[in-house]
Amino acid sequence: MKWSWRVGVFAGIPVYVHATFLLLMVWIAASHWVTSRSINAVVGGLAFTSAIFGCVVLHEYGHALMARRFGVRTRDITLLPIGGLARVERIPEKPNQELWIALAGPFVNFAIAAALGIYLLLNGHFEPLSRISVASGDFIERLLFTNLFLAGFNLIPAFPMDGGRVLRAILAARWDYVRATRTAAGLGQTLAFVFGLWGLFSNPFLVFIALFVWIGAAQEAASVEVKSTLNGVTVKDAMIKDFQTISPDASLSKAVELILSGWQQDFPVVSEGRIVGLLTRSDLIAKLAGAGLSTRIEEAMRQDFPVADPADPLDSVFSRLQESETRTVPILRDGQLMGLLTLDNLTEYLLVQAAIKAASANRSHVNQMSFPI
Ligand code: ZN
Repeated sequence: MKWSWRVGVFAGIPVYVHATFLLLMVWIAASHWVTSRSINAVVGGLAFTSAIFGCVVLHEYGHALMARRFGVRTRDITLLPIGGLARVERIPEKPNQELWIALAGPFVNFAIAAALGIYLLLNGHFEPLSRISVASGDFIERLLFTNLFLAGFNLIPAFPMDGGRVLRAILAARWDYVRATRTAAGLGQTLAFVFGLWGLFSNPFLVFIALFVWIGAAQEAASVEVKSTLNGVTVKDAMIKDFQTISPDASLSKAVELILSGWQQDFPVVSEGRIVGLLTRSDLIAKLAGAGLSTRIEEAMRQDFPVADPADPLDSVFSRLQESETRTVPILRDGQLMGLLTLDNLTEYLLVQAAIKAASANRSHVNQMSFPI
């Protein structure tokens, strides 16, 4: 995520803090100063907020480490003012795996609350609840109740929040995946609307969370629908067979000429019949700005790019394209370049398929689908 700073790598997963998170800390410090005019209150407020976000990071690690048990990698964890965000590489297709990954986060908060509760019981200083609030009362006790709140809040079935994922997993165990997602996303957006409305009159953070849930639900539902269209289709059906290649010894001016004269943005770099690199439009422009038109292609091309086989399922390549920095995937068979797949031609393919589907919707209906998102 842009505007994020890396604070460290724990259990092999980098943790980032987003710039807006620092704004939150400034705001916490300022509001404590305004109400109390005491440095102790400011330090106390910042310490408590840091402790909460420490628990949020542990919550995200709950998801990430459970996902790892199912062989799913987590790219990073980012701390935002509205909470943490673990970018899990994919959501497992098996509903029970998604269920466990979703539950692992709130479980961590329950576990922290239980540990703090035991500590307080052993030390015998539980304060009456009436004297506790977010800003005052015993630090440990406030942290305990905040963890209970975090667990409870995350379990609200507002997809894609944890509770919503639990709901989707339960629905997906009996229905097809698209229907389960559509239903969970619909409920998620309804709840987001309620949060947003409620937030307008109480807490502005609720409005942000509402937006986050609303957009997240829409995006995931759309992505699941896309994958359902791609299900059972192979790369061969959608790849472009008529395209230009470029030699590593050619100059950048040759690539400029090719870009201006055709539709292609990215070019496979081919030497003696084998692909040795990929020249993307953005790499070309970056290189042009620094070096000149006479620079060789070899110096501007990238050697690290996704490739696929014509027989690969289209949905898996779609995921690779979404995760990759490039918009083009060269299609190879036994080292021979057979075609190209680009985000644009994939989008076109989807539009055509959607139109065909709509046309035949009255005649038939698909009732069996299962695929990963
Ligand atoms: Zn969570």
